[in-house]
Amino acid sequence: MDTPLTRVLGPKTAKVMAEQLALHTVRDLLRHYPRRYARRGEMTRLDGLEVGDRVTVLAQVKSVSTRRMQQRRGTLTEVTVGDGAGSMRLVFFNNRHAHLDVGEWGLFAGTVGLWRGDKQFSHPDCHIITGDDDDWARALVPLYPASKDVSSWVIQKSVKLLLDDAHSLEQLLEDPIPATVRDRHGLVDLATALRQKHRPENQEQVDSADERLKWDEALVLQATLAARRRAAALEPGIARPGRPGGLLDAVDAALPFALTDGQREVGEELAAELAREQPMNRLLQGEVGSGKTVVALRAMAQVVDAGGQAALLAPTEVLAAQHARSLAAILGPLGRAGELDGDPAGTRVALLTGSQKAAVRREARAAVADGSAGIVVGTHALLQEGVEFADLGLVVVDEQHRFGVEQRDALRAKGTRPPHVLVMTATPIPRTVAMTVYGDLETSTLRQLPAGRGGVSSSVVPVGEKPAWLDRAWARVREEVAAGRQVYVVCPRIGDLEDGGKGDDGPDDADGAPPPEEKGGTSDKRPPLAVLDVAEGLRNGPLSALRVEVLHGRMPPEEKEARMRAFAAAEVDVLVATTVVEVGVDVPNATVMVVMDADRFGVSQLHQLRGRVARGKHAGLCLLVTEAPSTSPTGQRLAAVAATTDGFALARLDLETRREGDVLGAAQSGRRSNVKLLSLLDDEALIAEARVEATTLVEQGRGLADHPELAAAVAALALDERATYLEKA
Ligand code: ADP
Ligand code: MG
Repeated sequence: MDTPLTRVLGPKTAKVMAEQLALHTVRDLLRHYPRRYARRGEMTRLDGLEVGDRVTVLAQVKSVSTRRMQQRRGTLTEVTVGDGAGSMRLVFFNNRHAHLDVGEWGLFAGTVGLWRGDKQFSHPDCHIITGDDDDWARALVPLYPASKDVSSWVIQKSVKLLLDDAHSLEQLLEDPIPATVRDRHGLVDLATALRQKHRPENQEQVDSADERLKWDEALVLQATLAARRRAAALEPGIARPGRPGGLLDAVDAALPFALTDGQREVGEELAAELAREQPMNRLLQGEVGSGKTVVALRAMAQVVDAGGQAALLAPTEVLAAQHARSLAAILGPLGRAGELDGDPAGTRVALLTGSQKAAVRREARAAVADGSAGIVVGTHALLQEGVEFADLGLVVVDEQHRFGVEQRDALRAKGTRPPHVLVMTATPIPRTVAMTVYGDLETSTLRQLPAGRGGVSSSVVPVGEKPAWLDRAWARVREEVAAGRQVYVVCPRIGDLEDGGKGDDGPDDADGAPPPEEKGGTSDKRPPLAVLDVAEGLRNGPLSALRVEVLHGRMPPEEKEARMRAFAAAEVDVLVATTVVEVGVDVPNATVMVVMDADRFGVSQLHQLRGRVARGKHAGLCLLVTEAPSTSPTGQRLAAVAATTDGFALARLDLETRREGDVLGAAQSGRRSNVKLLSLLDDEALIAEARVEATTLVEQGRGLADHPELAAAVAALALDERATYLEKA
């Protein structure tokens, strides 16, 4: 399977396949599946073509005429082809065409162009289906993702070459799905599946091949995750049981509110797991504002009570600082052990971020290393070498979607023995994603919001269609401020000298951005709105009577911190910010979130931003300002966000608008990717079954050692993941 294509195909073909389609080995080519199939008698519709599409169509030659050109030397051949649904013109210069006769069927590939209002192909690749060409007389003709110099049928022929070598194919293929599993789920073997996928005789064969090949993808992924879970389970950690009369009890006594039922239940679950030697690996998902921080704090307190340290990893400096501040506030004297007014029975909260002054950081590191800081809050800076813990017992990762497995592992490695791990996310994760991306974690969910929340209503403000609505929006902002409330205005860009018109801010957020094909809601016309410009405009315009301040990632850390503090203390009415306020920021008096150029943000980002308001008893308002027409896909996406606050529904919408590859963090399209057929949206049942099978395979007997083919596929995936990670780093 690893045989280079240069050894089985012509050198030229192999070269362009590698260059343009990243197909290097026999495996790559066999796993380069047809995108779809052309059916004889049910043509690819010519009437649906868009100018600029690179397509392959199956059509019949209707007319052929060749004439001498008037302006230039040479001849022009015009061919009209039709497919029942539409027709189009093919043009060839100087007889550069395969011999085409009226009535013949053929496959024509090219880029759809426009000439005098009609769609046409200029000298397309042609393949006439002749009577003895049994490949093309098939009921289903595979159409492959092609490139400029590698047409669909070059791929088809090359695949055929591999498939026809029946003997060696059977030997080459190592089927990663054990026969028992195949039998149980009625799956065909790999060689059969590949034959059926590339050269099907009917739709049933395509379907059974798809089912089987999806299983490949799901099983290998799930086996990888099961192996990871097993390895983690085999490495004992340290039990961190609770202690009556300790920090946890003090925290509970100090909380200004009663825990919700959900918080209590999850709390008990965590307490029990922390008390075990086997390291906890748990994902806590909970709606924005459902109170995850308290749950984490209580778990951290238990670990401190047991003599260990707990680290809280946050995605942004703003959030890390806020966490440190609110933990210190809840703990009071218990968080200042060793200080004059501290409680000696307590501990200390250390903050570690990348932008701290050297002296501050040195002091914090020392407190982490000697164990006097029981609770350590930080950003990526926590992961750095040189940060050493006296006894790291629990790692809490806030807003996990910002961190990869590798980062989690880097922190985990800082314990002498594997610490317990709690991962928290406010982006509700559809079950399939939980089973795949986070499949090495057990999950808990907080569905309930604390009682007495005002709720948020959301509206799209389509400034293109209703410019006056924006004035009304600012009027609403003035009213809220007059009533004593506060407001966020979020923009996609900072607007200082450095960002040159396109810079984004905040944590690296590949996963939150809108789908690429949807970008350009406004970007074609002008650069995205910027914090500094918008703040200026508001100060000199509709909000001139209010205290308007800015916040963005390129401000010096102390200034950021001071600004956030001032906003939290209600000394600022309107905070104009980038997505630095996206996650976690908690100012209960803020009630309005205005998102400028909302089309620039992804679904889950918008949901997160909206989660910044109505965190207290006052009702909230979220305004999504956009120039995108309300009927455009972008406008409809925004309308969908406005229509529901159900995070799970939105997570599904997010999944629909993003490609699987993005969700899984796989390499870019066209590159080698492990998930080609599997859909996180549609294949939930299959993924669940594969998960069960994979777990059994990994945990029974000698585990993967009993299934060398599967083990090899798992190893290949791990290698691929590493490569992807390195590419990104
Ligand atoms: P998230 O889950 O989004 O991280 P937070 O932990 O920031 O939410 O909590 C949101 C707000 O709700 C905070 O101001 C927090 O103090 C408050 N809160 C948390 N739990 C409760 C509760 N049981 N009752 C009332 N308010 C709560
Ligand atoms: Mg939070």
